[in-house]
Amino acid sequence: MGIRNEYLNGLMERVVSNNPAQPEFHQAVREVLSSLAPVVNARPELISQGVMDCLVEPERTISFRVPWEDEQGKIHVNRGYRIQFNSAIGPYKGGLRFHPSVNESIIKFLGFEQTFKNSLTGLPIGGGKGGANFDPKGKSDLEIMRFCQSFMNELFKYIGPDTDVPAGDIGVGAREIGYLFGQYKKLRNEFTGVLTGKGLTYGGSLARKEATGYGLCYFADNMLREAGRSFDGSTVVISGSGNVAIYACKKARQMGAKVVAMSDSNGYIYDPEGIDLDLVKQLKEVEHARIREYVQRRPSARYQEGCSNIWQIPCHIALPCATQNELNGEAAKALVANGCFAVAEGANMPCTPEAVEVIQGSGLLFAPAKAANAGGVAVSALEMSQNSMRFSWTFEEVDQRLKTIMDDLYRNASNAAAQYGMAGDLVAGANIAGFLKVADSMLAYGIV
Ligand code: GLU
Repeated sequence: MGIRNEYLNGLMERVVSNNPAQPEFHQAVREVLSSLAPVVNARPELISQGVMDCLVEPERTISFRVPWEDEQGKIHVNRGYRIQFNSAIGPYKGGLRFHPSVNESIIKFLGFEQTFKNSLTGLPIGGGKGGANFDPKGKSDLEIMRFCQSFMNELFKYIGPDTDVPAGDIGVGAREIGYLFGQYKKLRNEFTGVLTGKGLTYGGSLARKEATGYGLCYFADNMLREAGRSFDGSTVVISGSGNVAIYACKKARQMGAKVVAMSDSNGYIYDPEGIDLDLVKQLKEVEHARIREYVQRRPSARYQEGCSNIWQIPCHIALPCATQNELNGEAAKALVANGCFAVAEGANMPCTPEAVEVIQGSGLLFAPAKAANAGGVAVSALEMSQNSMRFSWTFEEVDQRLKTIMDDLYRNASNAAAQYGMAGDLVAGANIAGFLKVADSMLAYGIV
């Protein structure tokens, strides 16, 4: 992925030297800048007015101490973050991630990506991201509650329904959002849509849980149909077993596909007869168990420790829905060799740059995350709308809006790629279409 413009090359060098030891952030910025040469060549004011330099610098970076007490009375201290990346087109919006790998680089890459993704939804939301280097795995309910409350004791100072609206991400699901919202409500004495992904009894939106997975399939379906392909009759491999993976599996099956593998951070299951989704949901959503338990109850399946080999399983369509950089160049070569014809990213930046090069270079269809997984945050924005109206739509209404948003998003990304001489390249198309709305808004504000 080369950056074909002298100014953008210099900007990339500054990003690297101003943000030392932040490889994920560098990777995300490089990927976007490598698409933007034709746009900045045609629009020199983007450089002279400082838009490009502002775009790679978060508006605000907040990091804070999160002390909490475990069940044995031992005190732990984690580090919390909220990076308010860009508010040019609306309040900061983006998830919170609780995972031991969380650091400034990861939150910054996610916040940067979120800015473009949110713009692509066509809805008025800016980009932000947050989280903590806290590992929810193996923690009791009480410990999770204490952690969430302590996290919110600091975060509440910086967020608000018209300022910054966090949601879930890896390690932050319905339970955590409940504890976070409860604490915010108590501290501020207000009941507003300050978080999304809320429970249905206290302001959550129907179809939010399904939104990222369903949206991924709606987007992929557009891409497949334009190439004369379809989910119908295809074999699909999905990594992950969180919300994104589970509901991508459900929708892909509704569209006629057979899903044969899923995973968690320990390993993957391969079920040639097709994944029993009710069993996966029971294990992950009800029992909070590991995916290896699946094979105890399904004789047709086998379990393999470790995740990277999941991409060796022959499939037509690969949906990486676990985490960043989970699918590398080697894995991409295996997919190509085994007859895969499409890869659509459900997680954020799951394919390494080498993998994207192999996938696109081999003529496979490729749907990049910031376009393909935008359904989750799109329905978050619909949750904000419903909260503002103090009203809720039916599941069918929200799902229909989601489908329209994903269809429009596909069309916009595809048209932007064609307009700038890169027809068929959805990476470039998504970057350009997401960028233009943010950049034009920044230009309108002047230098602020
Ligand atoms: N964490 C999700 C994402 O990466 C959703 C964010 C949101 O709903 O605000 O887009």
